Amino acid sequence: MNVLIYRLPRDKSIVTPPSSCTSCGERIRFYDNIPVVSWFFLLGKCRFCKSKISIMYPMIELMTGLLFYYSYYRFGLSWDFALAISLIFIALSAGLADLFTALDTENFECGIIPDSLIVAGLIFGFATSYMAHKSILFPIYGAGVGFLGLFVPAMLYQLIRKREGMGFGDIKLIAVFGAFLGLKSVFFLVFGSALFGAIIGISWQIISGKKDLMIPFGPFISTAALIYLFFGTLMDRLLYGV
Ligand SMILES: [Zn+2]
Repeated sequence: MNVLIYRLPRDKSIVTPPSSCTSCGERIRFYDNIPVVSWFFLLGKCRFCKSKISIMYPMIELMTGLLFYYSYYRFGLSWDFALAISLIFIALSAGLADLFTALDTENFECGIIPDSLIVAGLIFGFATSYMAHKSILFPIYGAGVGFLGLFVPAMLYQLIRKREGMGFGDIKLIAVFGAFLGLKSVFFLVFGSALFGAIIGISWQIISGKKDLMIPFGPFISTAALIYLFFGTLMDRLLYGV
């Protein structure tokens, strides 16, 4: 997943070259590529050129492992479990790709959510959602309402204000999670992510003193999707009283 997050938005092949150091290009040996563990053995440095390896790598690996384990604990070996781990994979890769590409830009504004992740997300979303709910309407309504419900206001905003309000990638990402989580989740995905984004964005503006700050929205959409995945019943009760 770390490979996808780094390479997909940069239009690099995910197959070749094999995992290699981003500083010296030396190929990473398989025993130096064990999740979480290797980073500690290498003390966070490349074996060859000693340049620093970001702590984000073991953190992402650890977070993925914990979320997968919790899904197994919650759902057992079932289609719900297959749905959960596919959603976690897409949520983390899309959210972090968006965040890291935004960090690369000068004003921290235009993150990229790779289309290949959107397509993979739709395929896995439709497939696992259909198997888990035994209904093809479940993912169709979720993805359809997620997409159209945001596409129309976003287009209107762009027509009136002549600038992009919500990124097109964000809208596609909400449609993907709509396919996984169904119609009822869309409201939470939109307003939950907007709420988290506003809290972080406003705090950041106060701390940094910058105005008119744009922040990538993908990580907040992914956070909302993960919360709904595990606590959807509770969220439904809070939102709809059922
Ligand atoms: Zn190196």
